[in-house]
Amino acid sequence: MDQIKEILTRHSIPSIVDIHVHFMPDNVMSKVRQYFDSAGPLLGRSWPIKYRDDDATRIAQLKEFGVSRFSALNYAHRSGMAKWLNEWSRDFAKIDKAIISSATIYPDDDVYEYTKEAIEGGAEVFKVHIQVGEFSPIDEKLIPAWHLLEESRTPVVIHAGSGPAPGRYTGVGLVRQLLDIFPNLTLVIAHMGMPEYREFIELSQKYENVYLDTTMVLTPFTEETTPLGEDNARVISDLSEKIVFGSDFPNIPHEYVVAIESLESAGFSSTWMRNVLFETPTRLLGARS
Ligand SMILES: [Zn+2]
Repeated sequence: MDQIKEILTRHSIPSIVDIHVHFMPDNVMSKVRQYFDSAGPLLGRSWPIKYRDDDATRIAQLKEFGVSRFSALNYAHRSGMAKWLNEWSRDFAKIDKAIISSATIYPDDDVYEYTKEAIEGGAEVFKVHIQVGEFSPIDEKLIPAWHLLEESRTPVVIHAGSGPAPGRYTGVGLVRQLLDIFPNLTLVIAHMGMPEYREFIELSQKYENVYLDTTMVLTPFTEETTPLGEDNARVISDLSEKIVFGSDFPNIPHEYVVAIESLESAGFSSTWMRNVLFETPTRLLGARS
């Protein structure tokens, strides 16, 4: 813990804003844990989850780490689930003002209605999981929902990269097509697009509202199988206004500090660290209309 405080002090970072945290209904979280524990097929290897306490304890842990705001991301893997998850997330966000009110979309018949409801109800960030959800981001049912998200400038954390394992709709191609339709969409590319780092980094350079999150990037666990590479590290060293910190807490195979330490030891500047951990996500969350 003190280790985190030292890093924050070293780079004059007021606090951490973590865009990629999961809080889920108990039954969903226990299924996710089972999946990670059994090294499910989308993971490809064992993934010993570090943080397993109840919600209240995990909220307290985040604050202890120096996190001032964190998301509570949920995602659906079948039809009919998202609306209920969004209702749960809306109530969950009322527990503590540090929680970034979160929601999700899935190609349901009523996706437009519940997306509108979520935005009007104060959702500050959405999560879309292309790999687990196994749907195309340009599924025609989603088009009206994307329109709402673009118009309201609501950031959408999208897991579209083919890591840890490729899915039917993962990869940069369909995200490019989505941005052809909605060029002003505010997207946060989860895991920096891993393993298609370069392609997704280029999207963030091309589109004003496309950001990248650092979730699991450069950690020893990831570097073992999917290294970022020196070229990509050099490119992102200039992109701290387009990069936001994410941890994937609590479903991580290491201590929370490892996510931050891994960025620091990659040699990024203090300005970079301060932007990524605090300034850029703060500005991003404040940009909703
Ligand atoms: Zn995640």
